[in-house]
Amino acid sequence: MQREPLNTGLDFTPAVGDMAFTPLQRELLTVANRLGREKFAPRAAQWDREASFPFANYEDLREAGFLRLCVPKDHGGLGADYPTYMMVAAEIGRFCGATALTWNMHICSTMWTGVLADGIAMTETQRAEHAARRELHFQRIVNDGALYAQPFSEGSAAAAGRAPFGTTAKKVDGGWLINGRKIFASLSGAADYYGILCTEDVEGKDPDPRDTMYISVPATSEGLTISGEWDPLGMRGTVSRNLTFKDVFVTDAEQLMPRGIYFVGAQTWPAMFFTLAPTYLGLANAAYDFTVQYLRGEVPGEPPVKRRQYPTKQIAVAQMRLQLEGMKALFTRAIAEARPNPGKDEKLRLYAAHHAVMEGANDIARLAIRTCGGQSMMKHLPLERLYRDSRCGSLMLPWTAELIVDRMGRETLYEPGEKDA
Ligand SMILES: Cc1cc2nc3c(=O)[nH]c(=O)nc-3n(C[C@H](O)[C@H](O)[C@H](O)COP(=O)(O)OP(=O)(O)OC[C@H]3O[C@@H](n4cnc5c(N)ncnc54)[C@H](O)[C@@H]3O)c2cc1C
Repeated sequence: MQREPLNTGLDFTPAVGDMAFTPLQRELLTVANRLGREKFAPRAAQWDREASFPFANYEDLREAGFLRLCVPKDHGGLGADYPTYMMVAAEIGRFCGATALTWNMHICSTMWTGVLADGIAMTETQRAEHAARRELHFQRIVNDGALYAQPFSEGSAAAAGRAPFGTTAKKVDGGWLINGRKIFASLSGAADYYGILCTEDVEGKDPDPRDTMYISVPATSEGLTISGEWDPLGMRGTVSRNLTFKDVFVTDAEQLMPRGIYFVGAQTWPAMFFTLAPTYLGLANAAYDFTVQYLRGEVPGEPPVKRRQYPTKQIAVAQMRLQLEGMKALFTRAIAEARPNPGKDEKLRLYAAHHAVMEGANDIARLAIRTCGGQSMMKHLPLERLYRDSRCGSLMLPWTAELIVDRMGRETLYEPGEKDA
């Protein structure tokens, strides 16, 4: 049987590769690619140099409706589903890693409470409570263009899913009293709300991860302070400083999920942690695209020197493409099959996709610099920034490269609940 050639309906190949896109995916990818090329790429060096937040990019994202991308349509959003978000995020990551990574933190707060929460088992009462509360958060985004951050990390085993969060929420009249500290809060100083994970402080009970609360803290709250230096190797535009909560009161309405539901959600939807990966798939594409352009002597503003005639460069480009195709294949399969309660094989494949993208992005950026050579790593070109930014992917909890390998080995050899005598 002869197959028709694939018509993607796009005049470019997006970072996820060519495939049969839905009309919404085509539309969103087109906007992301245009914003990326025309606005985000030319500004990327500035955020990196200054370690400052890409406010101008957020004005563009807001105007394009991208802050409400994953807010369901009946709540005034664009109603993008999980695979659509993942494709669009990869496209943005291609032009500015810090913008894609911080946008992910914002989007996750709408996706977790939106389309993902719809797949989490809840009682009727919990479902009704959640439906009423999330409306407030969606409306803040849809009507006011509010920005949400997602600070979970504390520098303990909590963000790795191995211990209860040290930040606590104590039930008081009309709301919650929050105490604790978060590190690496991307969008610190830029977000309007910080969607934190913390442990419910229950009188007479030891802290328990099952009591994890997902609560939003307004940036203007009394007792919330931002501190610490921010001068990292890469992803400098994320401005991920520390947050301290000292007797911060938030009302009941700030609960982003009913009590106990975050813990169930994290077990039900492992693909929610894969949302950090598209940024890095975008970076890998950017490093590869730059290398091809550079070796062909076609980088704008650079002397038109061709370097493509050397067999070693041709081999290196082939190696990069081999790795990139592997990453894309795993990525597109993982986003297509993402669902609540995946089977063992799907879960292992999801881990493999995450590892391949997070480690692969830096492998490709490293090869890009080695292949293009000394002049390619100057600060006026994007490659050295891509190299530094791409290093950050496998450091991100809960699925650092180490923890993925750890999970894959254990979950391959042990069925749930299985122990050695
Ligand atoms: C650019 C950037 C932006 C970020 N933005 C955010 C953000 O917006 N929100 C957010 O929450 N976080 C964010 N992070 C933080 C990130 O997700 C990690 O939490 C952080 O990088 C961990 O720091 P660390 O490696 O020093 O961990 P550590 O302080 O070393 O803590 C990790 C802990 O996890 C446990 N652990 C590690 N490995 C294992 C293992 N193999 N088995 C069992 N337990 C283990 C250990 O207890 C270890 O102490 C960001 C990080 C970067 C680099």
